[in-house]
Amino acid sequence: MTFFIQKITNMENNIFIENYFNGHSITDNTLLNNCEFLYKKLQHIFASLNINIQDLKITSGYRNKQHNQSVGGASNSLHTKGLAVDFYDPNSFLDKLLIDNVELLHKNQCAIEHPAYTKGWCHIQAVLPKSQKNVFIPYNGTIKANQKDDLFKI
Ligand SMILES: [Zn+2]
Repeated sequence: MTFFIQKITNMENNIFIENYFNGHSITDNTLLNNCEFLYKKLQHIFASLNINIQDLKITSGYRNKQHNQSVGGASNSLHTKGLAVDFYDPNSFLDKLLIDNVELLHKNQCAIEHPAYTKGWCHIQAVLPKSQKNVFIPYNGTIKANQKDDLFKI
């Protein structure tokens, strides 16, 4: 815990990190470095879009293994590694904005899950999926009939 406090006070802006870990006591250096890595990429992306990260509400940040299982996350979910975040996005505003500016995701080597699979939130991760796509269908994704139209818009 001491390390965590030291680490975040070195950050230019620690509110994202605090909210990301949401009260979890984190002493894992790799986890903290990963989250900082994610944060810096998000800063680059959202600054280019004139959005302050602090104005975005985190609906899912860090998940420990138990929490991840309880929400049905993939066992290797990047949320358990500090490398992915979900932002509140009820009208897919963020998803659409990021797809319209997909070059920002590409430049920062980030990826989002396809909006058809993230109704209500926007999942952004700091590493590319195996497909190397900046907009991808999550591993657990199954195509539902009413989502097929959305899929072909990209
Ligand atoms: Zn997510």
